[in-house]
Amino acid sequence: MGTASVGCPKCGARVEFDAGSKFVRCSYCASQIYIDRSGAGFYYILPFLVREDNAVGIFKRWAAGPTKAKYLDQRAQLAGSKRQYFPVYMFKRLVDGKELIRVEPAGSTTLPGLHELKVPAGDLKVFDSKYDVGGVPLIQPDIEMGAYLEKLPGAGKEQALVFFPIWTLDYVHDGKRYQVVIDGSSGEVFAADFPKRGSGPYLAVAGVGYFAFLAEALLSYFSPWLAAMLIAVTVVCVFAASLFVAWRM
Ligand SMILES: [Zn+2]
Repeated sequence: MGTASVGCPKCGARVEFDAGSKFVRCSYCASQIYIDRSGAGFYYILPFLVREDNAVGIFKRWAAGPTKAKYLDQRAQLAGSKRQYFPVYMFKRLVDGKELIRVEPAGSTTLPGLHELKVPAGDLKVFDSKYDVGGVPLIQPDIEMGAYLEKLPGAGKEQALVFFPIWTLDYVHDGKRYQVVIDGSSGEVFAADFPKRGSGPYLAVAGVGYFAFLAEALLSYFSPWLAAMLIAVTVVCVFAASLFVAWRM
């Protein structure tokens, strides 16, 4: 294979590389460079801050949230967990004089949340052969930078390939398998689908309450005092029934 050259994104020096290789080190400023058909960028990795026991704890807190099925945190059975580095592109753009950062997946995936990742700039480490990934598999990029470059707003300032740490946890609830992705840097949880808390019991309380009030409104034509008393009783009953649903169902 022949050689090609690219301008270093940091110091601007011409850097020669073998055509076909994706990574090169600038011989002037020692920056690690990622090469794509559409240009050169920096090459970073974001370390794992979330350990396995932390990941399980984060999952349990998430599963105890108000939109999740009741007792999901106790009833969900963990069926596997794995950590990986997922490749994303980080684009710095200048839009109307302001810097805008966009993060987009560099690997094709069906996992949830990977379009919404936030890269904390201060935690980025230069990724070169000396960086120890500790045996964590790296998912290789299979989407070209150019696929995004033409759709981004403003002018390009800098681009980088970042290996982003993610946990994937599988769990089973009522015989069905689900998956969550946990951002291994911030601990944010992403899920496309999860067992949801039913709204049926709340709707039933609301429906019964509606018809009781309707009947009492009609009654108030004939016997206002009796109707007023029954309305007060209904209010207490609807309130108590809502509390019961929130607590037990
Ligand atoms: Zn350089």
